[in-house]
Amino acid sequence: MVSKSNAGQWARAGVLIGSSRFALTMSQSIVLFGPPGAGKGTQARAIVEATGKPQISTGDMLRAATAAGTPMGLAAKVYMEAGELVPDEVIIGLIEERLRQSDATDGVLFDGFPRTIPQAEALSEIATVGLVIAIEVPDRAIVERIVGRRMDPETGDIYHVTFNPAPPEVADRLIQRKDDNEETVLSRLAAYHSQTAPLAEWYRARDLYTAINGNQDIAAVGAEVAAAVETLR
Ligand code: AMP
Repeated sequence: MVSKSNAGQWARAGVLIGSSRFALTMSQSIVLFGPPGAGKGTQARAIVEATGKPQISTGDMLRAATAAGTPMGLAAKVYMEAGELVPDEVIIGLIEERLRQSDATDGVLFDGFPRTIPQAEALSEIATVGLVIAIEVPDRAIVERIVGRRMDPETGDIYHVTFNPAPPEVADRLIQRKDDNEETVLSRLAAYHSQTAPLAEWYRARDLYTAINGNQDIAAVGAEVAAAVETLR
């Protein structure tokens, strides 16, 4: 029986009071939040290095499933190429399965998840989020960032043709994501504003939201992100 006096302690440890369900991860997780092209993937790498928490990117998981040609991946591809969100039940199922893996027990870094209030509600039942790092970037900067974005398929490193060019030995193998074109970006931004942005208020109300100015160079954003991560220790 959990007494009231240590209920907070239990809750922080991820145990749901009054329920037989235990959180799948017992330590605190971090959510990286922000519009498409905010630099979440770039900053995620540094957070993983600093905290040892594994990165869970629903976008990467969906792209892997699409590349593998699984039925879920092929169904998700239609939404992704249209710049729309994949249905909540698919995403929540993916996350539940991923959090069962042994590396997730000390908390994880969620990148690109949750993206809707139902996803955040589902997450709150299976993991303890201790910090939401929101990388804020104005819409006018997003299209240029995304259309110029390139990835090194061998390392996963992310570059930008103008703002963060790849070294010459890497430049030839860079690839561009299929949904990183101007038309799809506008749909992705619309989905962000209508379905994801309301989550900012949801997390602010729970005192978990830390806003970072993402409209500065990568190192400056990184310094703000590092300071936010420190608050979790
Ligand atoms: P990302 O790599 O995070 O930009 O995600 C690429 C695409 O995958 C998005 O435009 C959505 O179609 C889909 N996606 C990724 N994460 C989610 C999520 N949490 N909820 C719904 N759709 C998602």
